[in-house]
Amino acid sequence: MAKYDPKSLVAEEFINDEEIRETLKYAEEHKRDLPLIESILEKARPQKTAHGCTCAGLTHREASVLLACDLPEITERIYEIAEEIKLAFYGNRIVIFAPLYLSNYCVNSCVYCPYHIKNKHIPRKKLTQEEVRQEVIALQDLGHKRLAIESGEDPVNNPIEYILECIKTIYSVHHKNGDIRRVNVNIAATTVENYRKLKEAGIGTYILFQETYHKESYERLHPAGPKHNYAYHTEAMDRAMEGGIDDVGLGVLFGLELYKYEFAGLIMHAEHLEAVHGVGPHTISVPRVKRADDIDPDVFDNGIDDETFAKITACIRLAVPYTGMIISTRETEQVRSKLLRLGVSQVSGGSRTSVGGYAGYTPEERPHDTEQFDVSDQRSLDEVVKWLMESGHIPSFCTACYREGRTGDRFMSLCKTGQILNCCHPNALMTLAEYLVDYASPETAAVGFRMIEEELAKIPNEKVRGIAAQNIEDIKNSNRRDFRF
Ligand code: SAM
Repeated sequence: MAKYDPKSLVAEEFINDEEIRETLKYAEEHKRDLPLIESILEKARPQKTAHGCTCAGLTHREASVLLACDLPEITERIYEIAEEIKLAFYGNRIVIFAPLYLSNYCVNSCVYCPYHIKNKHIPRKKLTQEEVRQEVIALQDLGHKRLAIESGEDPVNNPIEYILECIKTIYSVHHKNGDIRRVNVNIAATTVENYRKLKEAGIGTYILFQETYHKESYERLHPAGPKHNYAYHTEAMDRAMEGGIDDVGLGVLFGLELYKYEFAGLIMHAEHLEAVHGVGPHTISVPRVKRADDIDPDVFDNGIDDETFAKITACIRLAVPYTGMIISTRETEQVRSKLLRLGVSQVSGGSRTSVGGYAGYTPEERPHDTEQFDVSDQRSLDEVVKWLMESGHIPSFCTACYREGRTGDRFMSLCKTGQILNCCHPNALMTLAEYLVDYASPETAAVGFRMIEEELAKIPNEKVRGIAAQNIEDIKNSNRRDFRF
């Protein structure tokens, strides 16, 4: 039987079933052990240092105890600490992005995804480079600067060369004052060599959802195709890091397996990356299974309610305080509102989950034929931006970090010393100003410029405050764009 070793490169050793089961047993036994729970909460809380703040994070066992605890007053404390951590390291900024579906050709058979190979009635579509250009122009016209590209797995229709060509096209489009400054990539597990090519193409984060950490369920849910191989999929992030990509994004598709099992596996995966590569995941996504073409989410037994979902999110925040957390438009406005306070740092907005879903459609129209799943939050980007500001969040279109070489452990150490606040806050305000001037409705612009005035005053360093204010004036009065610290 495989033995638990976070430093191993073998999937079943760093995501070890026996260790997860023992963790769940330990969590169950200690879920009302108040002295232990108090000590875990104390460990999770941000501590002040001479340079800012630091946070110890939690081990998968500690975090699992909090997740198992069913005392409402402890849940409230977890939520308070999650918000404290979020404000300490990410401030009130929320980074905005949109997905761009390139192709729904797929040779896999994931039972929760309508792109599975046996689905013969869904139209198959792959964007040409001209269509990619049109999609990017439409996305730039909405105000987006950061994309996550999505594609099915199909070595014939969507080989790595196709993905690389699309990335090149995306970065080449400069429509009016727009450009896409960061392309994150969500494609199937691949080879070190291909990860190296993606790195060379200038991608931001490589995102790959584990779907489930439970090996048997994984194999049952992916009955055929290359994705069936649990070890190849689970070890993908190690190959990505070997290929030079140091910002990787993890995720579980909640609803497929028991959430406590998934949660322990997810935190163990983060611990593994830290142990082997010296840097944890850049982001963690928390998608839930949604209705889609021939997919009924109710056939999966492990669906979770909104309260449990919120608690999972908050416990992730406590366990990995420096990792960004992403919530997509799979979730409703209400759920997103709640999660924003519990540690989420990135949201998508105005999203289309179909291939070619942006160009040629008004904000009210949405094509469903090639859609991957139903979008619950169907508001326009302008509405999402206004909603964020009205709830006290600064929508940020910033992409500065990776363009300034602040990736991997350099990003993490900036985050850990609280230094990120010295550049992220003004960067958020400057990119928000670009959005307001170039794309916002008059109402959103009015709310935004009031917010910028108030937030500029909060920049402690006088010199930085002055430069940021001057740059924002330049954005208002000229076509100069893309200022960054
Ligand atoms: N094909 C790539 C792969 O195999 O990893 C990734 C791209 S896929 C377009 C992105 C993610 O969408 C999947 O990893 C899965 O978690 C999620 N997804 C698939 N079907 C879904 C559904 N019905 N509801 C919600 N999310 C879904």
